[in-house]
Amino acid sequence: MYDVAIIGAGISGTCIARELSKYNVKAVLIDKDTDISNGTTKANSAIVHAGYDAKPGTLKAKFNVLGNAMFDQLCEELQVPFKRIGSFVVAFNEEEMKTLQELYEKGLKNGVPDMEIIPREQVLAMEPNLSPEIVGALYAKTGGIVGPWELAIAAAENAADNGVEIRLESQVTNIEKIEGGYRIFIDEEQLDAKYVINCAGLYADEIHNMVATPSFKILPRRGQYNIFDKSVGNFVNKVVFPCPNEFGKGVLVAPTVHGNLLVGPDAEDLDDKKALNTTIKGLSFIREHSVRSAEKVPFNAIITAFAGLRARPNTGDFIIEELQEAKGFIDVAGIESPGLTAAPAIAVYVVEMLQQIGSFEKKNDFNPTRRDVVHFMDLSNEEKAAMIQKDPRYGRIICRCENITEGEIVDVIKRSAGARTVDGVKRRARPGSGRCQGGFCGPRVMEILAREMNIEIVEVVKDSRASYILTGPTKEAAILEETMESVAASKEQ
Ligand SMILES: Cc1cc2nc3c(=O)[nH]c(=O)nc-3n(C[C@H](O)[C@H](O)[C@H](O)COP(=O)(O)OP(=O)(O)OC[C@H]3O[C@@H](n4cnc5c(N)ncnc54)[C@H](O)[C@@H]3O)c2cc1C
Repeated sequence: MYDVAIIGAGISGTCIARELSKYNVKAVLIDKDTDISNGTTKANSAIVHAGYDAKPGTLKAKFNVLGNAMFDQLCEELQVPFKRIGSFVVAFNEEEMKTLQELYEKGLKNGVPDMEIIPREQVLAMEPNLSPEIVGALYAKTGGIVGPWELAIAAAENAADNGVEIRLESQVTNIEKIEGGYRIFIDEEQLDAKYVINCAGLYADEIHNMVATPSFKILPRRGQYNIFDKSVGNFVNKVVFPCPNEFGKGVLVAPTVHGNLLVGPDAEDLDDKKALNTTIKGLSFIREHSVRSAEKVPFNAIITAFAGLRARPNTGDFIIEELQEAKGFIDVAGIESPGLTAAPAIAVYVVEMLQQIGSFEKKNDFNPTRRDVVHFMDLSNEEKAAMIQKDPRYGRIICRCENITEGEIVDVIKRSAGARTVDGVKRRARPGSGRCQGGFCGPRVMEILAREMNIEIVEVVKDSRASYILTGPTKEAAILEETMESVAASKEQ
């Protein structure tokens, strides 16, 4: 029997797994998908929010501010890209200046440090590409940007290296209460755990309802984005938000940790928890709204678009509690924005909660750091030469847009919680993230995956279980192969 089963390997589940791996606990992290972070964690704004948005006294406010403060150490330990670049909320008139003042006061109540309201001249001196119509901005110095899936993957890898078992492609279909814990049904299999933590994102209500009376609903709210080429990555230096409205924080313009520009999201309430498609309407909306903050957003440099689904709870706040009806079962549900920022602090809180129920012993040998991650192109010439000497695969460039080597790709496949899919490799090492979006390197990445995983190339998937890229040889190739075989056979005779 496991001590703890965590359902959902997004940022909530992976941070909890890592926190739990500091203790002598037999734990398992379960996800239905082919990779860590394939839910909301892979598609969001990637902002480490300062914490002035959430209503004072809510769990969102508390964990946002606590989580934000943990990012420097966490990202250093896990070698995850994080930049504390600061954020602006910009105002265009006196009415909006009042909103800035309200946000500032909310921030003070929430315990946000280093905020100030600055005038137009100061805003434009720091961000010359913003609209000259701006009259002022709330400047929060603790705002930042992070690699969201990189953080979840790194936390999972570190948790696995510290003893947590990871089970992917394992959809939880039912949970039953048993003597001393819970029986979790995964497709045809089952496993038992004393304690269960429900981090199932959009499906957290369904997992909750397997053991208790329905008490909340998760409503999907879609947000769409454009990503721009690195050539325009320095269009802004900070995260730039408009004043918030009833649908949230509005359309932001921000750099990414990898040097691209990000614009989005809109906010669209849907019924479908799988509606991850982008739409002309959504992308037009973000275009129209972003130019209010920055007139000259370089739309000719867009390289891709994507959508994410917020897991919006009908209760209005994060739901983090042990169920009265099901002791030892903890919901970590309704983790919409600022869930990415809050996750490290939520993890500490949940593990403290478990400590009170289960009283686990701290490990002496917890290793907080990940094995070194090599970014070949960031090395000096001497280091590059030494690396190639040690492993010639670092001398072969596979992705020409991002300059990613075969050595880096093999490394991310071979790590704990390593990549198993083309997008899994892309999220970890970035081949396919550049201007050509995998047009050139995609087939080479597939070959490497097939070779390293010892599978046929037709078995390599893009992302989810059924997303096959190749279905078999083309007619011409099959005929060619037959001809070659018959030529070979006739030579043998
Ligand atoms: C448009 C948008 C913008 C956002 N911007 C920000 C931002 O800038 N900053 C910020 O702090 N937050 C932001 N957020 C919020 C943040 O992305 C989320 O709070 C966070 O990613 C939630 O993580 P999670 O682990 O709770 O859920 P998820 O990442 O969704 O993980 C849940 C996991 O559970 C798994 N699962 C579900 N059902 C089952 C089952 N039956 N069996 C097994 N596994 C299952 C899923 O496969 C999934 O991997 C944004 C969200 C969106 C959508």
